[in-house]
Amino acid sequence: MFLTISLSGDAANPATDLGYLLHKHPGKAQRFSTSYGTAHVFYPEAGDARCTAALLLETDPAALVRRGKGKGRGGAPDAALAQYVNDRPYAASSLLAVALSGVFSSAMRGVCAARPERAAAPLPLRIEVPALPARGGAPLVRALFEPLGWRVDAEPVPLDTEFPQWGDSRYVRLVLASETLTLAEALRHLYVLLPVLDDAKHYWVSADEVDKLLRAGEGWLPGHPEQQLITSRYLSRRWSLTRQAREALELVRLAEADDSEVEEIDNAVGEETEAEEKPTPLAAGAARVLDLGCGQGQLVQELLKDIRFTEIIGVDVSVRALTIAARRLKLDRMGERQASRVQLMQGSLAYTDKRLKGYDAAVLSEVIEHLDLPRLPALEYAVFGHARPRTVVVTTPNVEYNVRWETLPAGHVRHGDHRFEWTRAEFRAWATDVAERHGYDVEFAPVGPDDPEVGPPTQLALFTIRAEKEAKAA
Ligand code: SAH
Repeated sequence: MFLTISLSGDAANPATDLGYLLHKHPGKAQRFSTSYGTAHVFYPEAGDARCTAALLLETDPAALVRRGKGKGRGGAPDAALAQYVNDRPYAASSLLAVALSGVFSSAMRGVCAARPERAAAPLPLRIEVPALPARGGAPLVRALFEPLGWRVDAEPVPLDTEFPQWGDSRYVRLVLASETLTLAEALRHLYVLLPVLDDAKHYWVSADEVDKLLRAGEGWLPGHPEQQLITSRYLSRRWSLTRQAREALELVRLAEADDSEVEEIDNAVGEETEAEEKPTPLAAGAARVLDLGCGQGQLVQELLKDIRFTEIIGVDVSVRALTIAARRLKLDRMGERQASRVQLMQGSLAYTDKRLKGYDAAVLSEVIEHLDLPRLPALEYAVFGHARPRTVVVTTPNVEYNVRWETLPAGHVRHGDHRFEWTRAEFRAWATDVAERHGYDVEFAPVGPDDPEVGPPTQLALFTIRAEKEAKAA
């Protein structure tokens, strides 16, 4: 895997400044060991008029497999072989992106003590990736890079030059040029978009991938016409994560907009996403909320950013998840005021718990499917019968959508710990029955793109307590 970054210049602004900007001396070749191979940085040319840095990544497929990072999901029998015999060493553009962020981390943040003015300025840049796996081909490459200010030359690479009749491979030779971007912006575009084009991130996606995406996408990803595709591909289609990231991006977009624009965007967002995003009933007067089965605390973190939520309680049975959540939220370093708004509690939703009584709203996001079916009535009673929040939002995967996840062998549940996954009809039947027995009304909404045939990836039920409605009407 190979890419080059070139800067043009003249006597006044020598191109060799690239060495300062990348924090890598043009005069020496350097190597960096990474967990999946070795990255080399060297300069094929270094003159005043033009300076080119090359990043070469030699991956070690055996190391990838040993670390469990080369593992595909699903575990089909021949996947064992595919782990070793694949194009990873040649075309691991996801790994190249990871290497890029490791080797050029300061440059990616725009830090350069020696040439601060050059780091902050748009530069005449050229980037070349001779063999880039591009699912979606040249048109998608253009759709991703052109809106960001790049001139794009993406040429399909033939499978075999001696046998043109075999057609094109799934690779393109990519050349990007721009005079309007800083080096940091350029690197952050590559960091996000190379894996998006590769679309085969064979190592595990961790929860902090969302944070990384938000950080690298700052300033350009919110508002990109292909934002949704970029986000969902980047996160390897793990829908619950994708959804959280998109919600967070929505918030960023609103925060970035002028006051005058806010209303307009608010409306546009509402229109665009009404059918596919969960309605945000939480915002409707809910100040004290429960995140039941909060996991690693992503939603708690989002809710904390909104000052309308005065009390946010995250509950989970897993101490490990709560520890990670506490670290994510930086609970130990939080100011008194913030800290008074949030609390993490260990507890099982299969038991009634006095601490959870009397809240405005509760969310169970991708939680019910983690309980054994025979335990579900216990959760129903604890939440709807005992805690009785005024509003309850429950989401769970829609099993019908599983045929759309390309990497998922049909008929398998998505997550190792899912005890069951329901069709839309099964979820409706369950929710309607729960609502009936506990005095709630229930409405349904899709989460994610609503496929005409199989429905959305995730389904949502919104329960509203009946007494509440009557009280309001009176
Ligand atoms: N709500 C988060 C996490 C979903 S994963 C999200 O949407 O991303 C499901 C979570 O439910 C896990 O963290 C698991 O520990 C928790 N869980 C499973 N059974 C539980 C139970 N009986 N009581 C409380 N939490 C439970």
